[in-house]
Amino acid sequence: MLLFTPGPTPVLEELRWAMAAPTIHHRTPEFENIFASAKASLLALLGMHEVLMLASSGTGAMEACVATFCSNTALVINSGKFGERFAKIGTALGRNVHEIKHEWDTPASADEVLEALAKNPKIDAVFLQACESAGGLRHPFEEIASKVKEHNPKIFVVVDCITALGVEFIDTHNIDAVIGGSQKAFMLPPGLSIIGLSEMAVQQIEQCSTGYYFNLANELKSQRKNTTAYTPATTLIIGLAEYFQKVLIDGFYNVYHATKARSLGTQKAMQTLGLQIYPKVPALAMTAVAHEQADTLRKTLKNDFGVNLAGGQDHLKGKIFRINQMGLLPVHECAWVINAIELALEKLKLRKFDGSANIAFLQTYYAEMNKQAPGSHPKQ
Ligand SMILES: *Cc1c(COP(=O)(O)O)cnc(C)c1O
Repeated sequence: MLLFTPGPTPVLEELRWAMAAPTIHHRTPEFENIFASAKASLLALLGMHEVLMLASSGTGAMEACVATFCSNTALVINSGKFGERFAKIGTALGRNVHEIKHEWDTPASADEVLEALAKNPKIDAVFLQACESAGGLRHPFEEIASKVKEHNPKIFVVVDCITALGVEFIDTHNIDAVIGGSQKAFMLPPGLSIIGLSEMAVQQIEQCSTGYYFNLANELKSQRKNTTAYTPATTLIIGLAEYFQKVLIDGFYNVYHATKARSLGTQKAMQTLGLQIYPKVPALAMTAVAHEQADTLRKTLKNDFGVNLAGGQDHLKGKIFRINQMGLLPVHECAWVINAIELALEKLKLRKFDGSANIAFLQTYYAEMNKQAPGSHPKQ
């Protein structure tokens, strides 16, 4: 079965082997070295001042960020389940929450964020996704972050990059906290979350110790010494260090390049089949396709063609299917997924198979791959 859901993603064989080694104790120089190596790679990936790793799914890091960076009013961009989650966390923690709410195919704009900030001077933190995985859309998060900082540099900008880290280059200049998770582009099992931090974010953490398990002040103190406040997710951190070993051979820009080529190829293939890409601005991490028979199609793909795709949630249940693009995916697997979708459409008597989806995918993929020679990207 090919697991092509946008989280969890398949765990690479090399990472599985690394994580199969006997457990080592976390309060040892051996583990501290591994922790230091994973941390150094994360800092290089993020280009940020500090980074923390927490033993939790991504939502734990989201909660820690709301608790730490919002004291009064949170501005939350909600174009789907994960944006909505920031709002729910804010309410649960007793913060005032102001939402910019859109249909799940529609990204927010910098202008409406500025408008909200002008109207609500008590907003002290802005929360949004880089890629909102509910509908596979991309928010213009770089522009939003830059406009927020222009308006008031003291407002914290927190970007959930769980489905953007390791997918595309992230300009972290105007971002105070970048959230990541193990089970997306890092191709690891779930259970490790990551928070990249700006200098201003570090100052805030040092001044405002809040919460217990997700107390970032305690974590920062420990993690600066390459240890953690509580027992870390040792196995996942070992896997993460191994992921960086593997990816650094090729370089991140080559990973970004290949991900973009696969993603654009998949979009083109779906359009060639007469299908509609669901979001108005698609993210590269996944391809969300609108289809009235999405769940029947997914069932056929799973039972007859060995392909596992994700569906939609809430009001999009049965209305979309989502194809993962995150991680180091072999292109022949992607080609088979594209092919299987066309075969499944024939099986459901919706279209005659002629292989045109795969042709469109491969043409676009190779055209994109040939655009830039590997290694020609600017250094991060
Ligand atoms: C997967 C995901 C999360 C994290 O969800 P968890 O289930 O807590 O790991 C957060 N935000 C986005 C955009 C995601 O795709």
